[in-house]
Amino acid sequence: MKSLRTIALKEAQSRVSPEVKSPSNKISDFFGVNVFDKKKMKDFLSKEVYEKLSSAIDQGELINHEDANHIATAIKTWAMSKGATHYTHWFQPLTGTTAEKHDSFFEPSSDGPIEKFAGSALVQQEPDASSFPNGGIRNTFEARGYTAWDPSSPAFIMESQAGKTLCIPTVFVSYTGEALDYKAPLLKALNAMDKAAVDVCQYFDKSITKVNASLGIEQEYFLVDLALYNARPDLVLTGRTLFGHMSAKGQQLEDHYFGSIPERVYAYMVDFENEALKLGIPLKTRHNEVAPMQFECAPIYEEINLAIDHNQLLMDLMEKVALRHKFKVLLHEKPYAGINGSGKHNNWSLITDTGKNLLAPGKTPKNNLMFLAFFVNTVKAVHEHADLLRASIASVSNDHRLGANEAPPAIISIFLGQQLNEVLDEIEHSRISKKIKEDNALWLGIPKIPQILLDNTDRNRTSPFAFTGNKFELRAVGSSANSSAPMTVLNAIVADQLVKFKVDVDKLIKKGEKKDIALLTVIKKYIKESKDIRFEGNGYSKEWEDEAAKRGLANIKTTPTALDAYVSEKSTDLFTKTNIFSKRELHARHEILLESYYKKLQIEARVMGEITNSMIIPAAIAYQNTLIENAKGLKDLGVGEDLLATPMAIINKLSTHLNVVKTSIDAMLEERKTTNDIEDTRDKAISYDEKVKSYFDTIRYHTDKLEQIVDDSVWPLPKFRELLFIK
Ligand code: ADP
Ligand code: MG
Repeated sequence: MKSLRTIALKEAQSRVSPEVKSPSNKISDFFGVNVFDKKKMKDFLSKEVYEKLSSAIDQGELINHEDANHIATAIKTWAMSKGATHYTHWFQPLTGTTAEKHDSFFEPSSDGPIEKFAGSALVQQEPDASSFPNGGIRNTFEARGYTAWDPSSPAFIMESQAGKTLCIPTVFVSYTGEALDYKAPLLKALNAMDKAAVDVCQYFDKSITKVNASLGIEQEYFLVDLALYNARPDLVLTGRTLFGHMSAKGQQLEDHYFGSIPERVYAYMVDFENEALKLGIPLKTRHNEVAPMQFECAPIYEEINLAIDHNQLLMDLMEKVALRHKFKVLLHEKPYAGINGSGKHNNWSLITDTGKNLLAPGKTPKNNLMFLAFFVNTVKAVHEHADLLRASIASVSNDHRLGANEAPPAIISIFLGQQLNEVLDEIEHSRISKKIKEDNALWLGIPKIPQILLDNTDRNRTSPFAFTGNKFELRAVGSSANSSAPMTVLNAIVADQLVKFKVDVDKLIKKGEKKDIALLTVIKKYIKESKDIRFEGNGYSKEWEDEAAKRGLANIKTTPTALDAYVSEKSTDLFTKTNIFSKRELHARHEILLESYYKKLQIEARVMGEITNSMIIPAAIAYQNTLIENAKGLKDLGVGEDLLATPMAIINKLSTHLNVVKTSIDAMLEERKTTNDIEDTRDKAISYDEKVKSYFDTIRYHTDKLEQIVDDSVWPLPKFRELLFIK
């Protein structure tokens, strides 16, 4: 019988890309055609209802029952005109993927069947969703959960060959009101951010009434041929390769980055981009990444809630469209050991309703002071809550990147660039003298900030959190993550910090200090207090680890302990004060994240055992038997010991590796049994990390050695050179 690998290799080499036709050469012709956007709202709604919906979107005003009915009917009419037959609330449970449950518009009635979509069905649904992760919030006897419409993210139509479905973005909460998803806390954090930022803006510009946090998400991913993927049970079940010797050629020639895009991949990119553009996802950039078969796409930045909905939708689309091209898209942070992993850079800034980016240095000294206020408060917030930011990006898959000398380190620090560092240093050491105060010559006290920062392009790639000219870039987020977790934290900590800032400044003003002097005095104080978080050097170096330890910065390498920050007193205080999470919700989330962590390791360990026992060991033994036959034959021929040495050496080598593999797998199984008996979830997760996972490297090292020895024609798993270079 032919092995799956052989069949897959043959299939992978005979691929023909499906024809991809763009709806038009002009993207603006079809951008957002599947979105119920403001233009369509205007067309399908009365002026009065349109205005109410607009203020629900922009100001968060509530929508009454009657208006909801009008809106639902309008959305249904539009959706049906586009061919939709079903609708679903679309939400983001803590599984990390998106969830949907379709209902048809169709309803029987006494006058015969009709198509109906009531306001109540738009506003709220009750998915029987007792199987979503809830961290103990929902007892089984009260398993109800509610999804509730989020008007700030527009409804859209998902197309598939079989049909079209109207999707309504929603939050997902328990019967008792606790958040069971990513979106609910994010919206609360964005609200807190808006309010705190507007309050601080009032010192500078009274016309600002709203601040939107904005996000541009760069998405890295790998592609692999579908047949090869299916021949790798580890990829299929865990999203990464648990075995595999690095191919002789990897990324060392640096010939892939920004290289010309392979034709088959290009067809795929255009295809998913078209689908994304139709859904209003403003994709702009595509290129090859560093590792072979690694790529990146990036949209133009948007308001955070929408940017994240779009990223979640994009990941879903990328997976679906890949299958049409007989590709599998790998969103895992580290599909292949030995080459780069994938991240999801989160570019973040604060934009006012007057169109000003609060993180862009301004032309005038007054604007500079405003910039400095937001800039320094962000630095201070990250300094205060670095552990929480670290927790927000922690996952079993991201552990492979953080601190693994290729992605940002697990130590949170901020890169500012030389010029801004100098500016902050200058302020720190300046004296806000009596004379300055009397002369009102404050502006001499603020260093001039060049509008175009030289360091804009001179990015320090090793920093987890870098200022890049007019935005901060959080690089530590994993490629498969829902950005809501880090964005909830980032906006919460900065919002909280801005509130404190206002209190500090107002205190000085009350004491009789001039406003500008008060602002500068507090900024100066914060610069001093948060100095330790700033680092311009190489984040991958051993020196930085030592230096960071001296500064007292945390360097937590694995998830189970990194997650502690979610339930620390400091974080609980922050989240309850800002009304983003209750204590109960935090503990539930902590529990869910720990559970997900150990369950994923448990699956990896099982898959490792299965593949080793049923595929690798048999292949190695089969080859060893061939060698034994060979040695016996040579002996029969009467050849001397010296000529027998070669088969004997290989036979011995095989035995040595086989022996280690088998004993390690057995020992790991025992360790798993003990670990599975641990009651406490945190202890269990730590045990999976420290005890069970500790066998992975040994097992892999020896199976990879076997891969290099065993006859290629009997090796069962597609090799790295095949996974990475057949395209
Ligand atoms: P890079 O060189 O890191 O790829 P780009 O300038 O191409 O950086 O931007 C990457 C992402 O950052 C894009 O999604 C872009 O829209 C986004 N971005 C640019 N300016 C801002 C901003 N002010 N706020 C948030 N995101 C931004
Ligand atoms: Mg970037």
